[in-house]
Amino acid sequence: MFDIDSIRTEFPILKRTINGKPLVYFDNAATSQTPQVVIDAIVDYYSNYNANIHRGVHTLSQEATDKYEQARIKIQKHFNAKKPYEVILTAGTTHSINIVATGFSSLLKKGDEVIVSALEHHSNIVPWQMLCERTGAILKVIPMNEEGELQMDVYDELLTAKTKVVFVNHVSNALGTINPIKEIIDKAHKFGAAVLIDGAQACPHIKPNVQELDVDFYVASAHKIYGPTGVGILYGKEEWLNKLPPYQGGGEMIKEVTFEKTTYADLPHKFEAGTPNICGGIAFGVALDYANNIGFDVIAKRENELLVYATKKLLEIEGLRIYGTSEEKTAVISFNIDGIHPYDIGVIIDKLGIAVRTGHHCAQPIMNFYKIPGTVRASFSFYNTFEEIDVFITAVKRAKMMLS
Ligand SMILES: *Cc1c(COP(=O)(O)O)cnc(C)c1O
Repeated sequence: MFDIDSIRTEFPILKRTINGKPLVYFDNAATSQTPQVVIDAIVDYYSNYNANIHRGVHTLSQEATDKYEQARIKIQKHFNAKKPYEVILTAGTTHSINIVATGFSSLLKKGDEVIVSALEHHSNIVPWQMLCERTGAILKVIPMNEEGELQMDVYDELLTAKTKVVFVNHVSNALGTINPIKEIIDKAHKFGAAVLIDGAQACPHIKPNVQELDVDFYVASAHKIYGPTGVGILYGKEEWLNKLPPYQGGGEMIKEVTFEKTTYADLPHKFEAGTPNICGGIAFGVALDYANNIGFDVIAKRENELLVYATKKLLEIEGLRIYGTSEEKTAVISFNIDGIHPYDIGVIIDKLGIAVRTGHHCAQPIMNFYKIPGTVRASFSFYNTFEEIDVFITAVKRAKMMLS
């Protein structure tokens, strides 16, 4: 059923060598690799129907518009949004969060409260801090525990009638923890607060159902779901998207412009000023088709097997500590070895062809919690193999020997 050899041939980059060694790509949490069907869709767009959308009566423009709008419907179905216009195509997760956080400026007043979690990526912290500076709203933080899980009893205490928005990631990019988002959403709704879920790290592994979750906003980036960079999704419930003011002004987002007054276009165009990443949107749809053809249950099962195997092997190395030990986690392993800087391990194993990430992973509050400067992070995708993990383990042992 799951034919790893045939899957790997679909990703041309996996044939590469680095420093004379076969590439072992374990930096999937930063960006995933791209299958040939997605690359073909990009080439096809620029080779055959590159044109600006929504404006032209000519054939190419209509072909491009049709494909782009078909992609929006694919994305709508994937996330199970009620309406296609609840899917705003953006430049990615960061852009999507900024649209919402900036929009809330007009809805919040001094003394209102917003809640974030201790496990967030800087993308889901900084735009909200900027919102608080503009409005005088107060930022509260759901703390984490040693395992890298949110302290849900403290969340209960933080929620009050003053809470207006809660923003939490679905999966932590630094630790892999899968957060209890359904519970977070339901509890916030009891207080009338809106919830934004940052799904950037969840969507490569989990197919979210936004209606079942009853989430108000859900955001993700195509480049972590086997698609291209520079495109992503902002899902918002229709009533919320209507409440928020537009983020950018420009072409495409208007109904009528005069120097006295401009009226804004309907959804989704109100939030899609300017020429979008047309090719990227189309390729995003193809990437979702690709992943759905494999099946998100198959992907999750495979990745969990890789996670269990690698965790066991890594823990056999003396002095190695894994950060983020929740029962509920995706295939991300953040670790350090006693007395060795994570960066040094990254440099040595790169010489052996292995790509991992080192540093704070855009989540400095998590590093501060553990009182460490950073970690080595290995993150697996379904196209990785047990043999690659063996190569990686040998490399880490070698780095440890050289550095201690
Ligand atoms: C990658 C990531 C982001 C940022 O995504 P961009 O594509 O860089 O905008 C935000 N949050 C999480 C959890 C991520 O993993």
